[in-house]
Amino acid sequence: GSTIGMLGAGQLGRMTALAAARLGYKTHVYAPDAADSPAAQVSAAATVADWNDLDALERFARSVDVVTLEWENVPVATAEHLRRFTNLHPGPNVLSVAQDRIAEKSFVNRLGIATAPWRAANGADEVARAVAEIGPRCVLKSTRLGYDGKGQARLEAGGDPAAAWSAIGGGKPGVEGIVEGFVTFACEVSVIVARGADGAMVAYPAVENRHKDGILDVTIAPASSDKVSAATAAEADRIARRIAEALDLVGVLAVEMFVTADGAVLVNEMAPRPHNSGHWTMDACATCQFEQLVRAVCGLPLGSVDRVAAAEMTNLIGDDVLRWPELLAEPGARLHLYGKAEARPGRKMGHVNRLFPRR
Ligand code: ATP
Ligand code: MG
Ligand code: MG
Repeated sequence: GSTIGMLGAGQLGRMTALAAARLGYKTHVYAPDAADSPAAQVSAAATVADWNDLDALERFARSVDVVTLEWENVPVATAEHLRRFTNLHPGPNVLSVAQDRIAEKSFVNRLGIATAPWRAANGADEVARAVAEIGPRCVLKSTRLGYDGKGQARLEAGGDPAAAWSAIGGGKPGVEGIVEGFVTFACEVSVIVARGADGAMVAYPAVENRHKDGILDVTIAPASSDKVSAATAAEADRIARRIAEALDLVGVLAVEMFVTADGAVLVNEMAPRPHNSGHWTMDACATCQFEQLVRAVCGLPLGSVDRVAAAEMTNLIGDDVLRWPELLAEPGARLHLYGKAEARPGRKMGHVNRLFPRR
């Protein structure tokens, strides 16, 4: 049996390890917080070590057959070091684009793909200038390490740029900002693409994502045709494939997009790994997004993305997970729990997929 190395130890790593096991692979997790983590609980081995521990990284790389990741913020130097000893998919080039919102939007715009208007902005004065140019409504984001809407501040005309700048951690070492025009979207969608080393690609249909308090709440798969026309869904698919190809990605890529009332598609951000908006594929598709990642990085043929049902995925955030007995009892509800001991507020504890065979 071969062993897949997994950088990062959260629920995405866990579900990848479960898919890998089904195909006969072992998983070895590497992360500073791997101890008793969601991924380590279901893996054959775990290394608890720093991202910059070169010796531990080398030992890990030599002990596995290929390395992939469930967290795109692994330092690029770590990725480059691992590459000396093993194959890493996706590679450092993909990480450097995906871990910085400015690099990401520049890359997408260079392909001729639209985003919200944006400006790099460091310090209250530059934030004020960017809002004056783009405004009146904007979002200030830290360029790195944000997730679940953390590191973001809304800005209206006449708002306080200094307060927004400090709200995102402005002034702290390494914190940089980007101001984006606020998009009044009709809905948010995402497309997940898997791509093999031979360039073969498959993509799941565009899904609708609804957020609550900056965190993904519900994914509706596929997006309803009332909100996302066939032409718009095809455009979203084309954009995601174009980005995966331009990155020369091997693995799985999720592209988050805004759809405006007139059907324009704007890229918000991307993640070069399985994505929360793809969890519905675990129960509703011939091959789930996690198995596609395993197939892509292990050089196996990609699987069918055929959909056996329509689906709705609902995240269980914090105390939502306490509803598990009732969800277990609900006919047709497919419950997935991540093995996290503490249900802290805002923490993703699990999800539930509901299938609609006739939709
Ligand atoms: P994730 O958890 O998806 O990684 P994140 O913290 O990286 O999230 P974004 O995806 O950029 O942040 O933003 C979170 C949500 O905030 C978006 O899904 C969207 O609902 C809203 N949002 C972000 N940017 C904009 C924008 N420019 N205009 C309107 N809404 C936005
Ligand atoms: Mg993000
Ligand atoms: Mg997002």
